[in-house]
Amino acid sequence: MYIISTKAMLTKARYGGYAVPAFNIHNLETLQVVVETAAELRSPLIVAGTPGTFSYAGTGNIIAIAGDLAKTYNQPLAIHLDHHEDFDDIAQKVQAGIRSAMIDGSHLPFADNVALVKRVADYCHRYDVSVEAELGRLGGQEDDLVVDSKDALYTHPQQAREFVTLTGIDSLAVAIGTAHGLYTATPKLDFERLAEIRSQVDVPLVLHGASGLSTADIRRAIGLGICKVNVATELKIAFSDALKTYLAVHPDASDPRHYMIPAKAAMKEVVRKVINDCGCEGKL
Ligand SMILES: [Zn+2]
Repeated sequence: MYIISTKAMLTKARYGGYAVPAFNIHNLETLQVVVETAAELRSPLIVAGTPGTFSYAGTGNIIAIAGDLAKTYNQPLAIHLDHHEDFDDIAQKVQAGIRSAMIDGSHLPFADNVALVKRVADYCHRYDVSVEAELGRLGGQEDDLVVDSKDALYTHPQQAREFVTLTGIDSLAVAIGTAHGLYTATPKLDFERLAEIRSQVDVPLVLHGASGLSTADIRRAIGLGICKVNVATELKIAFSDALKTYLAVHPDASDPRHYMIPAKAAMKEVVRKVINDCGCEGKL
């Protein structure tokens, strides 16, 4: 069984004092890079996709390719539903073989968020699927979800405790000052709030919007209970910048087997750096 849930890996990370990276992938090449690199570094791995990514690449294709790579590299991995909002969509993907899901009801009023998340968690747990949910809101943009950073609300520690108890989730995504996308100004994370959430909540905590955070901030967050670190934007930028540079120098290039090489190499460096920041090398 190579496609696993995140439950055991995040619990191990929590008590081991490191985090597991969740890398957003989009296609064959980005999947190859994350699995190859994690396998080389013997790192636990979460491969993440938004609803847009699953529609673009095809759920069955992602599962088949990730499953085959996992087997080839002897690298068990979780395929994670990142920022999914719809019960039926999640149920369908669980039936297809996915074992890790985020149900994002963070835009809903508290009671509605609880009701939706509990419904998804009850369903998912029947299939041994781990469930992440979010309380509070991140700024920035992920997929077609846009939140004005001024309206972004931080996670309330006591409410987080109530949320986890009422829903039965396996991990909690917290809003402590990170944002999706690239930072326009240096982010200032609310570490005090994170420590307070950790003291109230018993499940592994998740940090979204880690692209562009300093190594020091990521490590400090891990020290305060973050067990999963989500990275998307940084990977996309490294990949496409290298591709653009290559094509500018080789305007006649037409063979993807050639022009994808520098793009993959650039993305691989980011994956290595994140694994190093997370302290998860050798923790598979
Ligand atoms: Zn996110």
